[in-house]
Amino acid sequence: MATGWKGSTRRRRLPRNWPQIRARILERDRHACRWIREDTGRRCGAYATEVDHIHRGDDHRDSNLQALCDWHHQQKSAMEGGMASKAAAERRRAEPQHPGLI
Ligand SMILES: [Zn+2]
Repeated sequence: MATGWKGSTRRRRLPRNWPQIRARILERDRHACRWIREDTGRRCGAYATEVDHIHRGDDHRDSNLQALCDWHHQQKSAMEGGMASKAAAERRRAEPQHPGLI
């Protein structure tokens, strides 16, 4: 099967045995997307075709990997590409410190 990485500008450093890891994670999660939907608080459950790193980086252990559907993998990748820091900045602004606590 062709991988979706070809032509990607943001290639992760993936281990040599990534295809095996990927297959194992999809199997472990029964090909069901593990994304928790904000509107329902439940797992998406759509057919998963992607394996996502829960925390960004080079941690390829099973505990840091989860199956996601194509849609949610794209959502997460988009968020990681700059949206995350913006959201964090907005959260900080939204929580002014109580003057009495300073
Ligand atoms: Zn999903």
